[in-house]
Amino acid sequence: MAPKNLAEVPAEEVAAFVKSFDNILFDCDGVLLLGEDIIPGVKDSVNSMKEMGKEIKLITNNSFRTTREWNEIFEDVELEFTSHDVIFPTKAVIHYLQAKKFNKKAFVLGQPAMVEELKEYGIGVYDYKDCPKLKHVSDLEDYIGDDLSIGAVIVDLDFNLTYPKLMKAATILKRPDVHFIFCATDKTAPFGENYKIIGSYFIGETLEMITGRKPVILGKPSVTYNNFVKKNYKKIDPARTLFVGDSLMTDMLFATKCNYQKLLVLTGTTSYETMMSCSKEVSPKYYLRSLGDLHKLLN
Ligand SMILES: [Mg+2]
Repeated sequence: MAPKNLAEVPAEEVAAFVKSFDNILFDCDGVLLLGEDIIPGVKDSVNSMKEMGKEIKLITNNSFRTTREWNEIFEDVELEFTSHDVIFPTKAVIHYLQAKKFNKKAFVLGQPAMVEELKEYGIGVYDYKDCPKLKHVSDLEDYIGDDLSIGAVIVDLDFNLTYPKLMKAATILKRPDVHFIFCATDKTAPFGENYKIIGSYFIGETLEMITGRKPVILGKPSVTYNNFVKKNYKKIDPARTLFVGDSLMTDMLFATKCNYQKLLVLTGTTSYETMMSCSKEVSPKYYLRSLGDLHKLLN
């Protein structure tokens, strides 16, 4: 059945839908936020849900903020959340490595916030120095070698990724005891009106192909990531939980795999046309043009 616009169904249907869940899991980018800005109306919608007694948590693939920076953005946009309310991949990575009693260094293909957060929680991080411009194949050798102090390769979106750094990751992963962790597997992310960010999917996929290794995935749509979510938010009953996201292959697929109810919003990566032609596996029952419209349906 084609997704229905929640704003166009009868009031009784909206009421029945809202009654069908106690917990809401929101994705952040493209749902609550666009860059550093809150999407219009979202604050009212979130507050309406809280007033109705819904328990709200945030599940993102965005590791571009540290715990401190998550607290700052919530304060800036006046959303009543703290870093305790948000699960982001770096948190899951820290938990994963601590559980493995990891005592080597991590080689991080990720943004500075991820590196900072890992260090903050006592995970050693290999200090990769950018190399000069290389002219010949023979110049590569000094920059791509293994280092036995490294025990994990962590892959996320890395705006400063270089060819030698990628090659070094592949070299390190030849050792089978090295943890291979892949965070955000998104193919794209929204970025202003004129661009789409090329997602870290292509970085992790390249390493998988070259090394033949299978990573542990600690980001949506992985069920392993959901196990970490469940550890943190014990009250969640999937049948009584709504997942709200903007991406079909990240959010809606995650919700399907974890048996959450689904609501898609069109303020992020998915267009109306793409949603209407998507597979049954990721198709939501309801969608909204924007989460900012939700509070208007409740009054
Ligand atoms: Mg999103």
